[in-house]
Amino acid sequence: MLTLKSIHTYYGSIHALKGVSLHVRPGETVALIGANGAGKSTLVSTICGLVKLHKGTVEFQGRNIAGFSPEDIVREGIALVPEGRQIFSTLTVEANLQMGGFIHRHNSRQMAQDMKRVYERFPILRQRSQQLAGTLSGGEQQMLAISRALMARPKLLIMDEPSMGLAPLVIKEIFKIIRELREEGRTILLIEQNARAALQISDRGYVLETGKMVLQGEGAMLLEHREVKRAYLGKGAKQIWEA
Ligand code: ATP
Repeated sequence: MLTLKSIHTYYGSIHALKGVSLHVRPGETVALIGANGAGKSTLVSTICGLVKLHKGTVEFQGRNIAGFSPEDIVREGIALVPEGRQIFSTLTVEANLQMGGFIHRHNSRQMAQDMKRVYERFPILRQRSQQLAGTLSGGEQQMLAISRALMARPKLLIMDEPSMGLAPLVIKEIFKIIRELREEGRTILLIEQNARAALQISDRGYVLETGKMVLQGEGAMLLEHREVKRAYLGKGAKQIWEA
């Protein structure tokens, strides 16, 4: 569904992605792990058209989408749950969901149906529908950010650090939601610092280090890989939650 071939991205003179390749097949959950500053968010921003691709190709369902505007990329079928959630805090929960469904705004029946589905999945959001999104708890905001992305009816859902800044119990809840989305057959690219939890719910994974892909393989294999264990799963590594 998504194929990145040898992509290079720069911020001025900083070479943030140095020939990165990755693919995601339909129905797969693929984890991208790596330390702070490895380039994970840059990779997401490059796919979503938020930063300029310098070299390489980004193919989505066989089309080269490099150079497309972020709005057109959403229209192609990619939706992002951004790092830090980035909900519209001064709008109501309902207005946030409407914004997520922006590309379908002329189809009010579909919008109402999708909103109903979101509220069935997350009854707490129905209860809070008229509340300003900025007044929600961290976990509720993450549910809203996921729901807002689902409102676009994406074929590929990209989640950038969904567990960041949340309490352990809430993280557990968020991973449960991701697992459910996976079981529904959705295609997910999951960017996480919480490597163990991410690899446990993923079919395959990639490890990014200082702008280069250094390892890839099945989730279960990476969990047992010596280098991954040492750098990301060991005693000194970040372990917020274990399944
Ligand atoms: P984190 O988990 O901390 O978000 P990351 O793996 O997502 O890290 P990026 O945020 O993609 O890493 O950063 C990759 C590199 O690009 C880093 O060296 C970072 O300092 C640099 N970088 C990121 N954004 C910018 C920017 N807007 N301007 C200049 N340099 C940037």
